[in-house]
Amino acid sequence: LSDKLQAVFDKLASKGKLSESDVNTALREVRLALLEADVNFKVVKEFIDRIRARAVGAEVMNSLTPAQQVVKIVHEELIELLGKPVPLDLSGPPPHVIMLVGLQGAGKTTMAAKLALRLRKSGQRPLLVAADIYRPAAIQQLEILGKQIDVPVHSEGTDVPAATIAKNAVRLAREKAYTTVILDTAGRLQIDEQMMQELEQVRMVTRPAEILLVVDAMTGQEAVHVAEGFNQRVPLTGLIMTKIDGDARGGAALSVRYVTGVPIKFLGTGEKLADLEPFQPDRLASRILGMGDVLTLIERAQENITEEDAAAMERKLQEGNFDFDDFLEQLRQIKKMGPLGDILGMIPGLGRMAKGLDMNEAEKNLKKTEAIISSMTVQERRHPHILNASRRRRIAAGSGTTVQDVNMLIKQFRDMQKMMKQMGLLGNGKGKKKGKR
Ligand code: GDP
Ligand code: MG
Repeated sequence: LSDKLQAVFDKLASKGKLSESDVNTALREVRLALLEADVNFKVVKEFIDRIRARAVGAEVMNSLTPAQQVVKIVHEELIELLGKPVPLDLSGPPPHVIMLVGLQGAGKTTMAAKLALRLRKSGQRPLLVAADIYRPAAIQQLEILGKQIDVPVHSEGTDVPAATIAKNAVRLAREKAYTTVILDTAGRLQIDEQMMQELEQVRMVTRPAEILLVVDAMTGQEAVHVAEGFNQRVPLTGLIMTKIDGDARGGAALSVRYVTGVPIKFLGTGEKLADLEPFQPDRLASRILGMGDVLTLIERAQENITEEDAAAMERKLQEGNFDFDDFLEQLRQIKKMGPLGDILGMIPGLGRMAKGLDMNEAEKNLKKTEAIISSMTVQERRHPHILNASRRRRIAAGSGTTVQDVNMLIKQFRDMQKMMKQMGLLGNGKGKKKGKR
């Protein structure tokens, strides 16, 4: 997705302003890209129409290139469509019943335990309920997960109807003062009448505060059909998308949100029980758009790097002579943009890494970097490719570092070049465009 979009935005960036045909060209590509991300075709159409209505004739802000303006509009509309985060409904008298529904393998059982852990940590007293009576392994799975997080699990084997188990669990919760009852229900591979009847019965006897549809992020066009199927029989109150840690961009979330209108509540980000994130529209929008948080980076860069700096840097990039002096300059710019951890977290692919990084260590590395670059000759700074083994050894000795440090920096420099190019593709022709609009 991102390659395609970037190619389009690159094209746009080279033009002076957004004309109607610019917008249409871009939107044709955006449309294809969203379909590729598994957003449902009906949803894509609506989305594209909204963008067109806004983009054509819209002012291109002075500080933005036309391409950036389009990125902004696409991103803003994605956020709008995804909707605002809505917390779990824990109003009313306890116990609050949370019912998880969804196809087999979507991640319901795992999510039940994740929610239980989260609720327990927030001071609730959750009770997990094994209401999937078709697979003995499912009951065992929930019991094991419950033990891990120290949350009790109510189960009655596979012979008692799910509705009865659920009803008994709610009664037990009242008696023992559990504040939330999390129902793990049975899923099928497809929407199925028997499953729906069972869910209706469970709903009837437990009156859930929340009925959350659990959807695997990998579910493609089918997601709309699944969501409509469930929503018709057991009115959904929210949506949970799991396995967002995989390759899927989460286009299904957009589709399901659109057809059901119910809010997205949580994202499952891994197999571990702590891997749960509250839904954040801007982050998910960035993911669906496929640009990491480059958008945020652009925004911050706009605020902090002067237009002249940016223009000069862009010229260097285009001429292909971005060198170590520029690298040093760039590091200083980045320092100006805020704490290093924040910045790293915004760079696609580095976010995860940044979480585990010791920031003091990182700041120390910055100093080391300055030392290493200072030990390079002018020649070496301007033409990093000449940095062979003996030069690297000399630089290491000169800067009081190791060859490994020097190698690492050269690698980082290359990564940086790549990143700068990515940003360049998004259009940073501020200098050139200035005054045209
Ligand atoms: P259920 O059939 O809907 O109850 O699904 P399960 O909870 O049993 O999950 C099915 C599989 O998906 C299991 O192997 C889980 O470990 C895995 N799983 C669930 N949630 C996530 C997630 O957010 N990320 C990843 N990577 N795997 C998940
Ligand atoms: Mg299950």
